[in-house]
Amino acid sequence: MSESNVRNLVIIGSGPAGLTAAIYAARANLKPLLIEGFSAGGLIPGGQLMFTTDVENYPGFPEKITGQELMQRFRDQAAHQGTEIVTADVTKVELTGGHPFKVWVEDTLYLTKAVVIATGARANYLGLESEEKLKNKGVSACAVCDGALFRGQDVVVVGGGDTAMEEASYLSGLCSSVTLVHRRDEFRASKAMVQRVVENPKIKILYSHVVEEVLDVKADMVTGVRVKNVKTGDSHLVPAAAMFVAIGHTPMTDLFVGQLETHPNGYLKTVPGSTRTNIPGVFAAGDVQDWNYRQAVTAAGTGCMAALDAERWLAQQGGH
Ligand code: FAD
Repeated sequence: MSESNVRNLVIIGSGPAGLTAAIYAARANLKPLLIEGFSAGGLIPGGQLMFTTDVENYPGFPEKITGQELMQRFRDQAAHQGTEIVTADVTKVELTGGHPFKVWVEDTLYLTKAVVIATGARANYLGLESEEKLKNKGVSACAVCDGALFRGQDVVVVGGGDTAMEEASYLSGLCSSVTLVHRRDEFRASKAMVQRVVENPKIKILYSHVVEEVLDVKADMVTGVRVKNVKTGDSHLVPAAAMFVAIGHTPMTDLFVGQLETHPNGYLKTVPGSTRTNIPGVFAAGDVQDWNYRQAVTAAGTGCMAALDAERWLAQQGGH
């Protein structure tokens, strides 16, 4: 392949991070190629917001907007600015063999001077049929996103780590009660966070319980959660308007294992205050490198940072 076929920038992923990186990179005349995904890891073009109904916290949309419409607007803007978009999953990358980097979609090879990784993360769910049927109808994996919809109502949170503690604490400020369901008899979250939850009078803790079923599929809305005590085998119903699943997320990093440095929890490592990975010319943005904030607006923010970091890096390499 000749030098002229080497692209300036390939962006992998089309959630808020990837599409924002594309908008900025296209405006900087980098002529970016965005490989938007197809079905990798259960995610689709547009990313996680394609699985939600209304987005009420993305700035600029006071009347709320559906996740799908919001992502269509991101995509239209990226295309309008001149991004070339390929609808497919990246199947392999070679980032450690020097420049240019190699990115494959099946048998098609793209050579590129820089890469922005924005492959996101996927929320983990319990895997119950009733849970699947009631997603967006009271079952949620994001308290910050959906908690306000259940203001003044009783809700359930499932999990025992830091995320579950945070979600329970956050929801206790909005909802009339929070029942925290955890399968073990102690939490694995940090002591300080556990203490905050244990001392919160609005949070009731059910240790050694698992969720058996989310009700009521027939009514097409959450009315309660049937839980089972794993020690006694007894079941009972917890009335609730929503169930928040807080059992972690899985970052979409399979492609990069052994090539890029990751944190012990599997998220890509970036140099603090930037989107730079351990390989010069490779940048990471959005949820694939952020297990802390996990919001569309923060993903978009780091997508912008990645495009600017890539643009500056390319300029240092002698322009594009
Ligand atoms: P993602 O949105 O996860 O997108 C990742 C992209 O990478 C996808 O396009 C995928 O197809 C692509 N991809 C993955 N692997 C490959 C591959 N091998 N090749 C090519 N492409 C690939 N946040 C809010 O701010 N407000 C909300 O109301 C809100 N509601 C939510 C509701 C739900 C149900 C969920 C799950 C999340 C919600 N969030 C919300 C969180 C928000 O969606 C995420 O923080 C945000 O989407 C992260 O953006 P991202 O660009 O990093 O990645």
